[in-house]
Amino acid sequence: MNESFNPLRRTALKSLVYGALATTVTASRSEAQAVALKEDDPTAKALHYVEDVHRSKDAKPGSMCGTCAVYQGAKGSKEGPCAVFGGKLVKSGGWCSAWTNIS
Ligand code: SF4
Repeated sequence: MNESFNPLRRTALKSLVYGALATTVTASRSEAQAVALKEDDPTAKALHYVEDVHRSKDAKPGSMCGTCAVYQGAKGSKEGPCAVFGGKLVKSGGWCSAWTNIS
């Protein structure tokens, strides 16, 4: 029997493709649903969040969202989810008083 027409193999491949598509669609929806954190958000205000760390007089050198332990954006990303703000997107160059050292 020619393997390319093996019905079990075809079914298995279909399952893999559909599974990969479902994962991609779910990930895209999650990213699309993520909302950017605004500086005037009450919690952001309470934690002195700024989109640009250079505007904060309290930030220590080297501290910013991109170097924070709870920043969930990809390495080198311009923004990403923050666990402190319920997964809302923060700027990697932003900062708030909940900044936590990675090490
Ligand atoms: S907790 Fe960290 S990643 Fe989240 S806003 Fe504050 S500094 Fe940025």
